[in-house]
Amino acid sequence: MRKPFVAGNWKMNTDSHSSVALAASVVSGTEEIEGGEVDVAVCPPFVYLQAVSKALSSSRVALGAQDIYFEQKGAFTGEISSAMLKDAGCTYAICGHSERRHVIGEGDELINKKVTAAILGGILPILCVGELIEERKADKTAEVVTRQLKKGLANLSEAKLSAVTIAYEPVWAIGTGLTATPQQAQEVHALIRKLLSDMYSRALAEEIRIQYGGSVKPDNAEEIMAQKDVDGLLVGGASLKADDFVAIIKGAIS
Ligand code: PGA
Repeated sequence: MRKPFVAGNWKMNTDSHSSVALAASVVSGTEEIEGGEVDVAVCPPFVYLQAVSKALSSSRVALGAQDIYFEQKGAFTGEISSAMLKDAGCTYAICGHSERRHVIGEGDELINKKVTAAILGGILPILCVGELIEERKADKTAEVVTRQLKKGLANLSEAKLSAVTIAYEPVWAIGTGLTATPQQAQEVHALIRKLLSDMYSRALAEEIRIQYGGSVKPDNAEEIMAQKDVDGLLVGGASLKADDFVAIIKGAIS
């Protein structure tokens, strides 16, 4: 049985005061939920990681970064290594978010290096995959997701794969208010699990958690999570309001 995993991606939002206040509200809102029922993480901007880490200390809410760089240290202006993320208290790092792919221009090879470096550095990567609206309309969803998954996980051993969470985020559903229907989500999640089974083993594929992301809200979390292969949620906009995020977490386990 896969334990649900709900993560909030704050993107380029909050400030030094509101990031800590939001983290504290998520902690208090989730206190009554049993730790065994669901894993919860928040991913603030890099500059607030340490302050948020303090606000989360001795709570069951984990800290994640929105990105990571694959080199360990040196002349890589503006980049952040796995060791720095660990030092700041991170457990997770998002790799290959669609905004990094399509706004910043990251490709599959770079994302694969990030996933690999995260695992080697003791950070659990959340590898995001998902198709653009043109790709869905052209019936290319399976092709795109297959490519992103295979290239994103290239050269990762079975032992390393168990550190990975996959997030299926159709790009057309991110921040648009358009959500994939539960059936559309399930179809792609089942494809991802089948690919993992073919690439590794059935047993390992059954263990890997696959999150859905794209306009998840309190009123749709439960029906999306009810799908057989949906094991968690990656939440953007709605994770900026503690009440909504907590309602989504509760919906995910109800
Ligand atoms: P959204 O973002 O919930 O605002 O659509 C999801 C994401 O980008 O992870």
